[in-house]
Order: sequence, then structure tokens, then C-alpha cells
Amino acid sequence: MEKIVSLCRRRGFIFPSSEIYGGLSSCWDYGPLGVEMKRNIKQAWWRAVVQERDDMVGLDTSILMHPQVWEASGHVKEFSDPLVECKSCHLRWRSDDLTDNKCPSCGGELTEPHQFNLMFKTFMGPVEEAANAVYLRPETAQGIFVNFENVLNTTRKRLPFGIAQIGKAFRNEITTGNFIFRTREFEQMEIEFFVPPETDKEWFDYWVAERLNWYVNLGIKRENLRLRQHGQDELAHYARECYDIDYLFPMGWSELEGVANRGDFDLVQHAKYSGKNLNYYDEETKQHFVPYIIEPSAGVDRSFLAFLYDAYDEEPDQGEIRVLLHLHPDLAPVKVAVLPLSRRENLAAFAKQLYTDLRQCWTVQYDDAQSIGRRYRRQDEIGTPFCVTIDFQSLEDNQVTIRERDTMNQIRVPISELRSTLQAKLQGEDLFVLPPGGKIWKEETKV
Ligand code: ATP
Repeated sequence: MEKIVSLCRRRGFIFPSSEIYGGLSSCWDYGPLGVEMKRNIKQAWWRAVVQERDDMVGLDTSILMHPQVWEASGHVKEFSDPLVECKSCHLRWRSDDLTDNKCPSCGGELTEPHQFNLMFKTFMGPVEEAANAVYLRPETAQGIFVNFENVLNTTRKRLPFGIAQIGKAFRNEITTGNFIFRTREFEQMEIEFFVPPETDKEWFDYWVAERLNWYVNLGIKRENLRLRQHGQDELAHYARECYDIDYLFPMGWSELEGVANRGDFDLVQHAKYSGKNLNYYDEETKQHFVPYIIEPSAGVDRSFLAFLYDAYDEEPDQGEIRVLLHLHPDLAPVKVAVLPLSRRENLAAFAKQLYTDLRQCWTVQYDDAQSIGRRYRRQDEIGTPFCVTIDFQSLEDNQVTIRERDTMNQIRVPISELRSTLQAKLQGEDLFVLPPGGKIWKEETKV
């Protein structure tokens, strides 16, 4: 974990929040590379669950919601963790995280646990009184439930269908830590999939498999993922069944995503508290019923950490260590680096033109500082799948070299074929499938 944290800091993936003031506990800022990678994760998720499906639409609801939402959802009453305090050093702990009844810091005696509500409360408007109290949402899901009817009426979707949302959530966690794994402000990617009640089991199984595959398809090693079913005693107040998709993080197996069968709990509750009828009318069977909901709920930040950790690699290279991130091209913050072998004017102009051209398609970096070997290492360390090298011969034959991150293999391609070749390689085509006029760049000519 230390290596990941240090890489993130050094290369501008993640910084401590408000660092010049000494930082703020468990709050982190995504830097220039981090923001690109985080956007790529969200985009990959959106693409898989919304863009490529007929039965899903998206939503972006507000963080502040009517306070009754949280009464109806059960969060005011149930969304709490058992808190204990050390009688000697006064540190506070989640008692269900502790293996014995002693303070993990000083070994002191602990108080009896009491329930601590995890919702952040704030006040709307200039007067701080109970009537104006609102909460920062602890999950994005409720914004979806309360819009169920709006979506149904405006999209004319029929069951089964889902609504997806990505957004910030806030939880006043008692203990945070493990870098971005558990923070008080984080981002979720949630699906609420509405189904006829009698089909809940098959859709539940479907989504567990679908979501597990999403991580595998984006490069996470299957052996580092597992499914863990919640025991009856662990189930949240709304859940009929739940599986965690766990990842083998450096601190051990921990939840990456939860898939829950929420039954009809949410729509029934919101109908009761709002007085609105949230039944669904099935035109074929002419029946009214409350749909069941299957919820795959993932964390953007935890996915980020898992993708990074899984991709991290060190390998011996000419007496040194090559650090590289084997990131899936869809997730890599920079797709292509343009590297002119020299800063000489004619070569620089040629390379800059190429850079301008490629930037229209992808996030591209231009780097002409230091030796070519060091530049390759810099790109390997941030997971850039391809480097394009321009040398003096390029000025004569209009060809450039593409170098692949993982194998360090190189091919030489005509500039006219560069864009389409990179496109194909970024989509997974083998490097040695050559475009017209392309050739394998010989070992001895490798830089
Ligand atoms: P945990 O058991 O780790 O507290 P949870 O079961 O409370 O998590 P859910 O309510 O199922 O989490 O939230 C769905 C997803 O949101 C989690 O799988 C996780 O990826 C993410 N998430 C939840 N809490 C946090 C947090 N404090 N920091 C970062 N991500 C979080």
C-alpha cells in the first residue's frame, strides 16, 4: 500500500486534501492523472451499464434531499454503527471492528457501545434550527427511488429496467483509513434495477455475475476477486439477500461492491411517507404491483484503488527496476505519449504536429525531457499503453515507432496509418498485426 500511496503522490494521482494546512483526515484530492483515471472508471461503468443497454437509463440527482426521504429509507433510525470510547486515551472505535474489548491504541478499558448515526447533518438557509436540518446523502440510491415514477412516465420504460447514477456520498465513518478505501466523502456508482417480484432471484444472480465480470474485463485478476454472501445477521434492514464482491486489498479481503436484493422495501416506504402511489401497472397481465429492486452498488474510489493495486508491477530491467502499471487501456490516464528523439527544431515541429493530431482522439502527453529510456520509464510508471517515438529517419520516410508498455515490443508504421493503428491497439488488437507499410522494429534498433 505504501508504494501505491507514494506513486500516487509522486506522479500526481492523489494528494492529501488541504495539504498546505496539514491535510484533513481521510480527505483526498485527485490530481491531474488521478482525475483522468477516475473519469475513465466512471465512463467505463456508464458505458457498460447505460450506453450499451436497452434496459437502463441514467440520472443525476441532488445531494441534498427532503429530510423525510431519510425517515422513509430507515437511515435516521438504522444507519448507525456501534461506537465505543477508550476511557484512558478517549479514542473512539467501531466496536464491531474490534477483536477484544480493549482499546487498540493503548489497551485501555472501553465504554459500552452506543449507536452512532453516520449521516452528516447540515442546515438549509440562514437559520440553524431543527426544522431546517438536512442531510448530505449517505448513498445515491434514494435519489433514484424517489424519481422512479418520473423516469417511468418520461421514458416509457417497462419492467424489467434499471436506473443508474454516479455521485458523491457522505458518511461520518467512525474509523477511516487505508488511503482512499474508507473515507467520509466518496463517490458511488449505483444501479437500481426494477423487476417483477417473482423474477428477483434470477435478476439478482444475473447482476452478481455481470458486475464481477466488469472488473475482470477491465483487467483485475480473477483470483483477486471473490463473492461473499451476507449471513442473515449481517443483512441491512432493507435487504433480502446480499453478496459482496470483495477484492484482495493489501490489508486483506475487503468489499469493493455490494449487490443486494432490496425487495419492495424502498418503494413501499416512499409510497407510505409521501402518500404517492408508486405501484407499477403491467399492461400485459393488467396487474398493479410494487416492483422488487436489485441494487449493485460500487464505490468509485475503492475501484480506483483496486485497479491501481492490481496493475502495479515491478520488474528487473538492465540492472534497474522497471515500475509499471498494467492498466487496461480504457482506464489508463494517458493513452499515448509522443516522444521526439531530439529537441531539434525540425523534429520538434514534426512531433508537435503529430501530438496536436492525436490529442483530438485521446489524452496524449508530449515529453522531450531527458533520455528516451527515462521517458519510457516515466510513461510505464503511469500506465501509458503506447509511446510514439519520432526520430530523424521519420523526417525522411514519414514513419514512426510505436512502443508497447507491457512487452516493450516495437513496430514501425507510416504516419498515415498511425491513428487507426493506435485505435485498433487501444481496443486490444495484437501489436504485431501490422498496417499497410508497417514492420516489426528489430531488436537491435530498439532504443
Ligand atoms: P463497508 O461495509 O465497507 O462499510 P458498506 O457495506 O457500508 O461498506 P455500501 O453501503 O454497500 O457499503 O456502499 C456501496 C459501496 O460504496 C461500497 O461497496 C463501497 O465501494 C462504497 N463505500 C461505502 N462506504 C465507503 C466509504 N466510507 N469510503 C469509500 N467508499 C465507500
